[in-house]
Amino acid sequence: MKILVLNCGSSSLKYQLIDMENESVLAKGLCERIGIDGSKITHKPTGKDKFELETEMKDHQKAVELVMAALTDAEHGVIASTDEIGAIGHRVVHGGAKATKSCVIDAEVKQLIKDCFDLAPLHNPANLIGIEACEAAMPGKINVAVFDTSFGVMGMEPKAYRYAIPDKYYDEYQVRRYGFHGTSHNFVSHEAINWLNLDPENAKIIVCHLGNGASVSASIGGKCVDTSMGLTPLEGLIMGTRSGDVDDAVVQFIANHDHVSADETLNILNKKSGMLALSGVSSDFRDIEAAINAGNEKAKMAMAAYVHRLVKYIGGYTAAMNGVDAIVFTAGVGENGPMVRRMVCEYLGFLGVAINEEENEKAFGKQVVLSTPDSKVTIAVIPTNEELAIARDTLAFL
Ligand code: ADP
Repeated sequence: MKILVLNCGSSSLKYQLIDMENESVLAKGLCERIGIDGSKITHKPTGKDKFELETEMKDHQKAVELVMAALTDAEHGVIASTDEIGAIGHRVVHGGAKATKSCVIDAEVKQLIKDCFDLAPLHNPANLIGIEACEAAMPGKINVAVFDTSFGVMGMEPKAYRYAIPDKYYDEYQVRRYGFHGTSHNFVSHEAINWLNLDPENAKIIVCHLGNGASVSASIGGKCVDTSMGLTPLEGLIMGTRSGDVDDAVVQFIANHDHVSADETLNILNKKSGMLALSGVSSDFRDIEAAINAGNEKAKMAMAAYVHRLVKYIGGYTAAMNGVDAIVFTAGVGENGPMVRRMVCEYLGFLGVAINEEENEKAFGKQVVLSTPDSKVTIAVIPTNEELAIARDTLAFL
């Protein structure tokens, strides 16, 4: 059984075709600049050369057709026809309070995705366009929605998801905490339970998903207790370009002083803040680490602030769960950033954490236990695989 996984952005479409017999990736690729000049598809069949084509893509429908053509092409294709595709799994960013699990897409689910347009204005419309493009290009196939919010929504209790604001905003506008990166947190926490042989009912796990966007989750027995992103992905950790937590009055203060709207202020907090702003160097951790190694003081302070915020969440979640069995690093920085991992673990001596420094320094993109045998908490790196998680959820419906 082969599953196509799609992740549609407003002007992009990422895809993977996965053979579920052995969970291997047959091909993956990216359509960029959909609807704008210079559109391009980059298609990489496993074991064969990359294929790139600059061609007009006026909309996502056209992009899906190009993906179908690339997958079935005589030279760089990996299947004889789209009949071989069993179903399509779609990453959907926001499912609101009702989407507690993945589901087969029908009219009701499409309406649910539409109902969340104002909660995720950049992502949900693009996700729906991708779904409808697949329905048109491959009629009759099952499409499954896998929501980024489900892990948080399914697990969190009101004490974790409610903001302490008047009921009206919760009742009428669904203003609450949802959490994002749920597919990754769910995947990594369950991998941790299986791989580290933890108690599937009671294991207390903290997952640090540290990519451009970054979030932490706390789960017990694979069920989310709390997670750091909120109504939108802006809450929580310091990220590549997002501020994470700030005093909300900062929004009013900047808007009044700069004579800009709330929308523009939030744009500053989402796109021009975070490590980019604090370091003055870049949002990319490779650049920041290089700057630190070259003695850049602002970059050092930015890194210290990043780790300080992360450690506050880890400490808070440990208290909220009354303990922690494993702390797992994942995503770009978590999988490839020995400096961040070392600095975080240096704070955690009070929990009895001890790591093998040598293992940490050579852990890049691989699954590895970093803690020493006498460490009271297991510290591990587990690469995330959101596409595989989406494909597994999709397969479950067939
Ligand atoms: P997203 O999916 O949110 O765009 P990723 O999970 O790909 O992000 O993570 C991107 C981040 O990971 C960047 O800041 C990048 O610098 C960092 N990263 C990737 N490889 C390395 C590396 N070898 N060393 C340090 N940081 C890395």
